[in-house]
Amino acid sequence: MMFDQHVHSNFSFDSNEDLENYINVSNKNDIVTTEHLDFSNPIINYEDSSIDYLKYIEEIDSLNKKYSNKFFSGIEIGYTPNSEKRIEDFLKDKNFNLKLLSIHQNGLYDYMCVNKKLISLEAFIQEYFEQMIQALESSIEFNVLAHFEYGIRIIDISVAGFDSLASKFLNKIIELIVKKEIAFEVNTKSMYKYKKENLYSYMIEKYLKKGGKLFTLGSDAHNIKDYAYKFDEARKFLLTRNVKEIILFKDKIKMEKI
Ligand SMILES: [Zn+2]
Ligand SMILES: [Zn+2]
Repeated sequence: MMFDQHVHSNFSFDSNEDLENYINVSNKNDIVTTEHLDFSNPIINYEDSSIDYLKYIEEIDSLNKKYSNKFFSGIEIGYTPNSEKRIEDFLKDKNFNLKLLSIHQNGLYDYMCVNKKLISLEAFIQEYFEQMIQALESSIEFNVLAHFEYGIRIIDISVAGFDSLASKFLNKIIELIVKKEIAFEVNTKSMYKYKKENLYSYMIEKYLKKGGKLFTLGSDAHNIKDYAYKFDEARKFLLTRNVKEIILFKDKIKMEKI
């Protein structure tokens, strides 16, 4: 089993799983969780989704004593332009082995919850990806671009339709992640639960063409039963595209054969 680099425990507002329980499903591999940071989060009535950092690190340290250093720390940073300064302030005195960039919301609504009848698909896609570009152009340091298509997980769109509305933004996003050496997350929840394998195939082809080489695998598990969800299928999917390695974010950053 490969290293799952998108995982939540009860340090995230939307998970009830004890961090320690992941040891039972990781098959003796290392574990990293990526807990939510989303300031003014619309889905919890604009409260902040944040991490009790000291408690989190304390828990990781104590688990590392018990399980010989198998646990690593991570954060899923939900970027909005309005929260950029708060994110920078939050991160400046903290260390995480893995920092994901996610676009979940815009300060008004979560992109998965918006009423698509009130906004055209064209305007929606433009807003979503322009926000992603803004995040990538900011001075916040991210390791990985997570679920690049979160906003369209529940929208039925063909690759051709997606290409015509999104490609100019996606080209810019790829240029930025290649330049900044930010890895591209293959999100198995998006690919197999939300059936977006075709969009991943499209995006990965573009990314490889522009010289992109850095991939991670993430299940976006919020409980142990979803840990490394369909990683075998994702592995085959990547090998078919001649992607043979993923990048691991632990104490050291390194490439590993899949
Ligand atoms: Zn997310
Ligand atoms: Zn997540």
